[in-house]
Amino acid sequence: MPKDNSPLIGIYGGTFDPIHYGHLRIAEELNGIFGFSKLFFIPSGSPRLRNVPIVSKDHRVAMLSAAIQDNESFMLDKREIIRDGESYSVVTLREFREEFGSEAVICFIMGSDVFLNLTKWYCWREMFELCHIIVADRPGYLSTLNNKKPQELTEALVSLQVSSIEDLKKSTHGFIFIVPTTLQDISATVIRESIATEKSVRYLIPDVVLEYIKTNRLYSGKE
Ligand code: ATP
Repeated sequence: MPKDNSPLIGIYGGTFDPIHYGHLRIAEELNGIFGFSKLFFIPSGSPRLRNVPIVSKDHRVAMLSAAIQDNESFMLDKREIIRDGESYSVVTLREFREEFGSEAVICFIMGSDVFLNLTKWYCWREMFELCHIIVADRPGYLSTLNNKKPQELTEALVSLQVSSIEDLKKSTHGFIFIVPTTLQDISATVIRESIATEKSVRYLIPDVVLEYIKTNRLYSGKE
């Protein structure tokens, strides 16, 4: 049971190839709802369950860093970039638990598309011994979330889902909370495709990220 003054830690992992307003808006809304002590953005080094990122780790970190620089609640954590081999969230979570202690409430944030694949993650059940899973919906996935999903995920939802932040805060880990947030049909895939075909991505990503992409000729096929 956490204490009243236990730290409330948010962790937002992703490829961020590139970071976009879908990510940033979800983080801002969840930060408003939860009031995290700290919210860490953790770019994945070598993701196991998706294609190799298009641009280098350094570029992804530089864009993420520029995008969150003006928000004092958002922090960049580079451990998965620095760590050798494939990136496993459970390894990161073990480290966070060690660093913040057994009384910290740790919340791992993911979109509903990623949540639907959770049972394929390395040591996915152990994650519930380390953190809560916070799910932000993504357009097109809510009906899947409600209907067709792996049996093990259905069972996890039956036993672990909570529907309020008060219930979530009764434990430092172990719950699933699907939080209503603003649906935004923004994806890094569409942004990369738009840049490659010279379509505008203005208002989908922060201007500083757009400038960085232009300066370094990323995603255009000319880098
Ligand atoms: P790609 O299109 O390359 O797969 P992406 O846009 O999904 O990329 P990621 O960096 O892979 O971006 O996503 C990191 C996390 O953010 C994931 O948990 C993902 O579900 C979530 N996410 C990304 N975009 C949105 C969005 N528009 N709304 C809600 N969650 C999102």
